[in-house]
Amino acid sequence: TSFGTANLIERAPETHPLTWRLNADASPIWLEEYRAKQGYLGAKRALTELTPEEVAAEVKEAGLKGRGGAGFPAGVKWGLTAKGEGVPRGYLLCNADEMEPNTYKDRLLMEQQPHLLLEGMIVAAYANHSYRGYVFLRGEYVDAAKSLRRAVAEAREAGLLGRDIFGSGFDFDIYVHTGAGRYICGEETALINSLEGRRANPRAKPPFPGQSGAWGKPTVVNNVETLCGVSSIILNGVEWYHGLCLPGSEDHGTKMMGFSGKVKNPGLWELPLGITAREVLEEYAGGMRDGCTLKAWQPGGAGTGFLLPEHLDAQMYSGGIGKVGTRMGTALSMAVDDSVSMVSLLRNMEEFFARESCGWCTPCRDGLPWTVKILRALEAGEGEPGDVELLLELTRKLGPGKTYCAHAPGAIEPLGSAIKYFREEFEAGIRTPSTANAPQEPVGSV
Ligand code: NAD
Repeated sequence: TSFGTANLIERAPETHPLTWRLNADASPIWLEEYRAKQGYLGAKRALTELTPEEVAAEVKEAGLKGRGGAGFPAGVKWGLTAKGEGVPRGYLLCNADEMEPNTYKDRLLMEQQPHLLLEGMIVAAYANHSYRGYVFLRGEYVDAAKSLRRAVAEAREAGLLGRDIFGSGFDFDIYVHTGAGRYICGEETALINSLEGRRANPRAKPPFPGQSGAWGKPTVVNNVETLCGVSSIILNGVEWYHGLCLPGSEDHGTKMMGFSGKVKNPGLWELPLGITAREVLEEYAGGMRDGCTLKAWQPGGAGTGFLLPEHLDAQMYSGGIGKVGTRMGTALSMAVDDSVSMVSLLRNMEEFFARESCGWCTPCRDGLPWTVKILRALEAGEGEPGDVELLLELTRKLGPGKTYCAHAPGAIEPLGSAIKYFREEFEAGIRTPSTANAPQEPVGSV
């Protein structure tokens, strides 16, 4: 379970805002040590020197984008949250249901930096007038749960949670809630349903959670890494934050990035936005293992599209990856080497997505198993003529705007790009008349 842990520290850049406090042996940073390394100074400044609106405005100006995969600007989201006269104070939910294949950045942050998350939650709750926070944590993240629960106890004991934090008059507390292990619980409205004790089906949006979320109250849902980035902005200022990314990047700050697959040094590093994927692969992940050639890669999770080696010079920020045709997603990339069959890989991925569909809307519930059925046939060399066209039609019918939530569009994105770049591999799975099992021509036919 410590996969990539050491890399998080060894390779972090000098100016990084999230990981500089980490211990070289990857042991968690508890309260005393965290405070000795400027911990909770960002929260103190927010609560004692700024109004909630000023905090939201700083985060908006900094341009911190959501780090869960969608990249929606956090400050904009906070600005859209219902507040003001007559609006009951609502909830801050930290989405820690990290379950995207290849993605484990939030786990390491929570295991090693629990107070960084709690501090970010205090600042976010203040900006949004939230009175209670929940960390909705993936059930399998047992070490992260232990780490967070101990940190919450320490923070309560020190008066950093509870009533009148820093003498500011602001009251706020945090609870760690473990989920039961379904991918769809990470979808923010399914997460809210699950937290309320209901079945984890996504809700229709709008209303967005900021208007009506948990128990009908204004609710802000932010990813772990997003919240971990908040306090350094308040502590060091917008100008400092804008100086972190590399030239050419339209997104600011740093981001957890990684490479998995048959690379020499699979891992996770905090890197400035705007770095090229090639640098991440070659300089941080050490390049491909000897004897392995890169065939394709995905920039940020199973729900992002496949790209080719020629796309490695794309800069890692949402617009940079957008230019080569897909989303950056979680920025934890996967290398596919030339020994891998794209049909088998996609069959494996779509089986996962089909299993994790909540079954609420028809395109997702029926379309994903149908996709799997066709891919299994192609993998076995028993596909029918027209199957590749049918798969492409499914990519359209399950695409954005056709379903309640982003599950099916995310599931189908890698398939569309795999067919675009490796169509011949899919075509090769179609049964031909010369195939042994093909129906024989009737004797005597013309
Ligand atoms: P989304 O684009 O629908 O929404 C992103 C966020 O912006 C949400 O919080 C949403 O409420 C907010 N938002 C969007 N429009 C808004 C508006 N008009 N007003 C107020 N708020 C608005 O995406 P999503 O369904 O939340 O997430 C999909 C992403 O999740 C995918 O890109 C995928 O990469 C990622 N994902 C991550 C994991 C993981 O483990 N980290 C797992 C699965 C998927």
